[in-house]
Amino acid sequence: MEDFPIRTLEMVCLGSSVALSSLFYYIYRKKCKTVDKLNEAPVLPLDEKLADLLNATPGKCLQYVVIEGTVQSIGEPLRSQFQEGSVGVIQKLVLREHKLVWNSLARTWTDSERVLHQRVNAVPFNLLGVNKAFVRVLCPLEATGPKMEIVHEKFHQASYGFTDLISQYLSGEKPKGQLETEEMLKVGASLTAVGELILDTDRLPKIRPPTDGSEYFLSTDDFETLRLEQEGQAEVWRVLACICALAGVAVLMWAGRRYYRQLKLRWEQENMRREFEMMGAGERGEEENGMDVSENACVICLSNPRGCVLLDCGHVCCCFRCYQALPQPICPICRQNIKRVVPLYQA
Ligand SMILES: [Zn+2]
Ligand SMILES: [Zn+2]
Repeated sequence: MEDFPIRTLEMVCLGSSVALSSLFYYIYRKKCKTVDKLNEAPVLPLDEKLADLLNATPGKCLQYVVIEGTVQSIGEPLRSQFQEGSVGVIQKLVLREHKLVWNSLARTWTDSERVLHQRVNAVPFNLLGVNKAFVRVLCPLEATGPKMEIVHEKFHQASYGFTDLISQYLSGEKPKGQLETEEMLKVGASLTAVGELILDTDRLPKIRPPTDGSEYFLSTDDFETLRLEQEGQAEVWRVLACICALAGVAVLMWAGRRYYRQLKLRWEQENMRREFEMMGAGERGEEENGMDVSENACVICLSNPRGCVLLDCGHVCCCFRCYQALPQPICPICRQNIKRVVPLYQA
């Protein structure tokens, strides 16, 4: 495993940064396409000429256009459940539970939110332009947006007694209360719709989700704001993709640096071994020459001359072969750890 230049944890980090980076890049490319399509989409004036324009278009269909108008319900509009006199065409009722959850890792209480109940109601509606010209909006719930007006918001505080406190202590959860909201797309609100415009068989112009898979938008902002918002989102995804890619590069560089250090260390050891080997040849030569080595003999094998200095203690007590054969890097004389070993040169 030591030879392997990358460790499991680094592998996991590298893998996830590559995966996240490609995912974010994919979303970024998709957003770019949406922005390009929005930039190309013509803004059509909503007036009596629109039906004629559609009639003259082959297929009676314009693939991606922008229409701005005011919301007008076709039949009976939806009435707000909480605000007297508010009427709309899309209504969203949400009940969220807020509680504090004990986070044992951070040792604090953290906020947690959960949707307990959600209901969306919608009635058919038109976008009204000048001179009573209008466009029917199809499948409004499939669109991205619109940001709706909050007509009601109420927080119901949780109340609890002594036994509740004990159970909270045991479960690690403290209910804070429930937030009740009602959002509405009101009648009379100005709305920007981006989608496929068709002249239906009943000769009514209708806007619907594009059949080529482009994003369908309904927005209470004007078209320019919507376009800038989408551009901003694309930029966020691009930055996220870059950050993840950089993290991947950093992990690679980290692993590379460690690998380089390992190689350098091994190279140094190899060099030292060679140096000692050359000395060993000299030693044998001395033995063959019949020189007396007994006084200077290695304390372990008692035959070779002492050939190395053990650091930091500085003892000169053994030959290199015996040093290499030590079960642990501990000086045989004083039992200190051997941090380094250098060859001993005798002139
Ligand atoms: Zn020896
Ligand atoms: Zn020593």
